[in-house]
Amino acid sequence: MRLSRAFIPILKETPKEAEIVSHRLMLRAGMIRQQAAGIYSWLPLGMTVLQKIAQIVREEQNRAGAQEILMPTIQPSDLWRESGRYDAYGPEMLRIMDRHEREMLYGPTNEEMVTDIFRSHVRSYRALPMNLYHIQWKFRDEVRPRFGVMRGREFLMKDAYSFDLDQEAARKAYQRMFVAYLRTFARLGLTAIPMRADTGPIGGDLSHEFIILASTGESEVFCHADILNTPVPGADTDFMGDLSPIVDAWTALYAATDEMHDEAAFNAIPDDKQMTARGIEVGHIFYFGTKYSEPMGAKVAGLDGVERPVHMGSYGIGVSRLVGAVIEACHDEAGIVWPDSIAPFDVAIINLKAGDPTTDAMVERLEAQFEAAGKSVLVDDTDQRPGGKFAAMDLIGIPWQVIVGPRGAADGNVEVKRRATGARETLPETGAFAYVTETVTK
Ligand code: ATP
Ligand code: MG
Repeated sequence: MRLSRAFIPILKETPKEAEIVSHRLMLRAGMIRQQAAGIYSWLPLGMTVLQKIAQIVREEQNRAGAQEILMPTIQPSDLWRESGRYDAYGPEMLRIMDRHEREMLYGPTNEEMVTDIFRSHVRSYRALPMNLYHIQWKFRDEVRPRFGVMRGREFLMKDAYSFDLDQEAARKAYQRMFVAYLRTFARLGLTAIPMRADTGPIGGDLSHEFIILASTGESEVFCHADILNTPVPGADTDFMGDLSPIVDAWTALYAATDEMHDEAAFNAIPDDKQMTARGIEVGHIFYFGTKYSEPMGAKVAGLDGVERPVHMGSYGIGVSRLVGAVIEACHDEAGIVWPDSIAPFDVAIINLKAGDPTTDAMVERLEAQFEAAGKSVLVDDTDQRPGGKFAAMDLIGIPWQVIVGPRGAADGNVEVKRRATGARETLPETGAFAYVTETVTK
């Protein structure tokens, strides 16, 4: 992609309405445009990152045995009357009337609809365990939409729903999602800490919020510092095997949000290991038993032939919130520093003298070489001054910059800069590709 043709509407001024750094940087880098309070258009740079995050989420859901579906954004109110939530949900739900005066709503979540799908097709334990997920836009009419995409009204969520015969099987389903979440956030370059969350009237220990640490987070969190050193399970994890050792390792040490904080338990941690911080919730997993299956009549017959309400859990990830959350965790004074796995482009090639036959030819050769290897490339072919070019690339945060200038090009050299560290290396043109690709980690 040529920068002269790319739609990346960079803002020179820092937008006043943006309170936190990720919102400011997303606006300045031309990733999003606000259309109404908490409602955004995603411009090309933002859209690419959003899709890359969604794809990692998808791959890890699939690895854990979940199956992707797509439910609609608009739902009939009938299902919500069956579960009793139509009146209970309150003003966060956007209610819509169609031309036949049927009550519809823009889904804030999908427990009812997925339970309806399940009860229409599944009757026997033989189909279990089952986990269905989708990545779909939600609408919640938040009282205070703020922080850009972090607390929007319309936002993209991955929500998965598990179905099992009994609580023991549901616990295993819960553990599969728990482990999938650890892997997902690690692949996004984040350290997300699972913290005990409130299970409401159901009780038990099967609800966790996954929280990343950031000074702008909405919740105060308390944890044992060593939890940050717990190893993340590898890609070879056997999701059909016993995942308890992994879950136990991650839940043995104290970690809680202010809602679940237990002062006495926290004080029992050695002083130098007590960590208080602020955090952003990026995911939430929850076992809720037969809360929806019972009123909605979603039953399965067990080995004994007796039909019982199916045990369910739900598992959310804030896909669009993650774009902001990653920036909160990965930025410096100059702009965004994308992790390699979700950067909008893998490499930026900056032509310091566009129109010069030597630099143009070198840029084209490099671009072809990176693209042949499947790397996405943004070529700065504009005639801006070097300072402006460097600032723009630092702002949008492409992990690698290959700088081609007339003086270096005359000697056959380019300069390679790593965005994250600022490290610069002068290399022969032929060495740039190997230098970049051997350092990139997928
Ligand atoms: P919060 O306490 O932040 O309002 P929640 O408990 O309402 O979150 P869930 O219903 O568990 O959230 O939704 C799953 C995930 O969706 C959350 O972990 C979060 O990452 C994301 N999410 C929830 N509300 C929003 C929102 N208004 N804007 C963007 N993402 C959101
Ligand atoms: Mg909420």
